[in-house]
Amino acid sequence: MTPSQPLSLAQKPADYSVLFLDMNAYFASVEQQVQSTLRGLPVAIAPYTGSTGCIIARSYEAKEWGVNVGDNVASARKKCPKIKVIEARPALYQLYHKEIFKVLNSNAPQVTALSIDEFIIRLTGRDQTKTGAFKLADNIKSDLKNIADYMTCSIGIGPNYFLAKVAGESKKPNGTTLIKLSNLDSFYKKIKLRDIPGINFRMERQLAERKIYSAYDFYNKSLMELSCLLKFPGKVWYYRMRGWEVDEFVIKNKTVGHSHVLPPELRTPEKALSVLEKLASKVAYRLRREKLWARGIAIRISFLSGGGFADYKHCALFNDTGSIIREVRSMIAKCRNWQNPLYVAINTFDLVSTANRQVSIFADIERSRAMSEALDKINDEHGANTAFYASSFEGRKAAPDRIPFGMPRYEIRH
Ligand SMILES: [Mg+2]
Repeated sequence: MTPSQPLSLAQKPADYSVLFLDMNAYFASVEQQVQSTLRGLPVAIAPYTGSTGCIIARSYEAKEWGVNVGDNVASARKKCPKIKVIEARPALYQLYHKEIFKVLNSNAPQVTALSIDEFIIRLTGRDQTKTGAFKLADNIKSDLKNIADYMTCSIGIGPNYFLAKVAGESKKPNGTTLIKLSNLDSFYKKIKLRDIPGINFRMERQLAERKIYSAYDFYNKSLMELSCLLKFPGKVWYYRMRGWEVDEFVIKNKTVGHSHVLPPELRTPEKALSVLEKLASKVAYRLRREKLWARGIAIRISFLSGGGFADYKHCALFNDTGSIIREVRSMIAKCRNWQNPLYVAINTFDLVSTANRQVSIFADIERSRAMSEALDKINDEHGANTAFYASSFEGRKAAPDRIPFGMPRYEIRH
């Protein structure tokens, strides 16, 4: 979060809102999973296994020998002569990541991958109770056992992303830890300042200069004190530590888009634009469905002659139909050399997951969002395309609501 963004405090913190899952000693345990001879042994993973290679992960057995992430291979061997140093296999870890993601998705609707071995789930419905949240955690753990019986994970349950992560980190390996709003006081007494994710050496020193020496000191400062000491970040920390959802997560490598090959009767600039707008409204609908917001948009038009027009831009966070259509029109206006259009595509990127509706901070698009939601409701109840933006009339039959398959993909240039 940057200081320019106002805080969204629309939704009060509630227990059992977020589940955080962290795979324990991930790369090392994947290796132990696929090579059973490594199980129970000190294992370290390095991109390069020569003596200057850097350890990027190690098994719990290697940890007991004092081997740390960041050690070089030579010093790891010195600490633990029997250590098995294995060259990292990113493709394998990615494969397991995908399988884990599938397991999580089959258990809960709102899953976000934070990194290759960390995931968050925004709890919904009956999962937002003590019984529900713990049952979900148990189900996930037992389903994970089916795909990887040697691997374990730590789970944290809390009122916001931050506290769920803190809870998850507090008991490794294989823990399930709950942090409740009513226990915050005793919780902060138990942990060290450096146990708080986001507090590094530098920040620890800055806080010490301001006479904050422990997690409990930090937690006990008033909003006024923290704002004075740390300016805007102080204010964010105040709310974050109390369970307000002030963090958002940009979902890397995920885009939401649609594309369409134009039939001969739609190969005019006006009709191509109309199809593109229809695709744009479908994209906005999908963003809303997946509770995502986008910060980037890219479009592409390919011409029959082989040439094309492509543009992309970063804009204010949006997931409403009005904004996306406006952006598409302003981008299309830059296309000077129209020829017979053959193919149109739209993609949104820099996606942000907002389980907490942060709409109040985007007042200018609030009205358009409300209208989009009204249209979604009509279309959900009465079938797709009952209501649509007038401008996409020409295109509305051209791009049927189906999953595009085998369409050309394009890269977004940054
Ligand atoms: Mg991990």
